[in-house]
Amino acid sequence: MPKLFGTFGVRGLVNKEVTPKLAFDLGLALATHLKGKGKVAVGYDNRTSSEMLEQAIIAGLTAGGCDAIRLGLTPTPVLSFAIRHFSCDGGIIITASHNPPEYNGIKFWDREGAGFERRREREIECIVARGGKRVDWRRIGRVSEVDALNSYIGAILKRVPKLKRKLKVVIDCANAAGSVVTPRLLRELGCEVVSMNCQLDGTFPGRPLEPVPENLGELTRTVVACRADLGIAQDGDADRTLVVDERGEILSGDRVFALAALHYLRGQRRPRIVTTVATSSVLDDVAAKLGGRVFRTKVGEPEIVGEFRKRGGEIGGEENGGVLFFDWLPCRDGMMTAVKFLEALDSSGMKVSELDATLPRYHQVKQRARCPDELKPKVLKVLANRFSRYKPDTKDGVRVRFDDGWLLLRPSGTEPIFRCFAEARSEKRAKELAKLGLRELKSCIRTRKRSSR
Ligand code: MG
Repeated sequence: MPKLFGTFGVRGLVNKEVTPKLAFDLGLALATHLKGKGKVAVGYDNRTSSEMLEQAIIAGLTAGGCDAIRLGLTPTPVLSFAIRHFSCDGGIIITASHNPPEYNGIKFWDREGAGFERRREREIECIVARGGKRVDWRRIGRVSEVDALNSYIGAILKRVPKLKRKLKVVIDCANAAGSVVTPRLLRELGCEVVSMNCQLDGTFPGRPLEPVPENLGELTRTVVACRADLGIAQDGDADRTLVVDERGEILSGDRVFALAALHYLRGQRRPRIVTTVATSSVLDDVAAKLGGRVFRTKVGEPEIVGEFRKRGGEIGGEENGGVLFFDWLPCRDGMMTAVKFLEALDSSGMKVSELDATLPRYHQVKQRARCPDELKPKVLKVLANRFSRYKPDTKDGVRVRFDDGWLLLRPSGTEPIFRCFAEARSEKRAKELAKLGLRELKSCIRTRKRSSR
């Protein structure tokens, strides 16, 4: 049976891998999975292919007996919100998040507004392989439209009071879905908003969609030129947010998460922070300040949501700027992350750089080494052995803690490489740890290559 779902739902090149036929089959499969009844919310980002895929998905859903609730252009967190707000039985978002414009993707959501677990994705795959079930003409589903954006913005404004300071914010939405929510939301909260790349354009001419430092040069320069208090950058479907300080320096996703957490969790008894093996120790510092605990999972949003569902928690997040506020949505929310960061900044009375300096500084080094997929499990085993005296965490890759830093060696789920990630208080030590990690990694890969010949 062909594997359709990757790390983030179904994703691929439009009209080659992700076709209207596949979209129809997936819509029909979800309806079959839901036993031909119930309501499914459908939203999409502003890629040139999104409306085409939406039509096909809705045809599949209704052919299978489900009613389709059209949300139209929707950032991913708004879909998650709408599923619960409009009492739907599930949802589908059409987006390829940070991938280039020629890609698109389809991702399924459960009735609580969380992404499908792997088990349910497998069930959908099985149904697509054997063909979904079309219903009798009398039971074909109906299509209606709702306004999710206003409900979503209204719900946030109900929870969050207006800011006390008039903060000047430059917002860069990459010409993508966040453009329809973030500038308006922050204006309503009392910010002076300068928007850039907030005209919708499915060719994404402003910048590549991934909010990483190499794509945010224009934003950092604009923040400084406008004398703004901060800059905010989102990815294509607005579930991730990065922050630029008043000097044009970019805060890593870890630190945005940490500062939002510190403010959000204040006053809570022994809060639980759920994060992955790849995030900075700065989260441990935040937990220590709050008398709380950090729980580390495998990398990925579903892992964080899974841990929250099993043992609870207040906040979750990743190193890429995706943060989940569990009393709000079981979904990374770039808008709420921006709002919580602004609240933290507002109540501190500080500049962003000063607020950031209240947390310990860490240096991170990221490297990679090529490794054929078939060798990955064996290499992992050998690595765990070599570092056994440090009692490594082997939940996802091998994570080794030292007194003054940590090292993560982890196989990529999508490419034939191993990632080597080191963090320490000094740049020199981070480089040393990365060097040690890469040396061990390469030697393990060489040994396995030789013995597999
Ligand atoms: Mg995204």
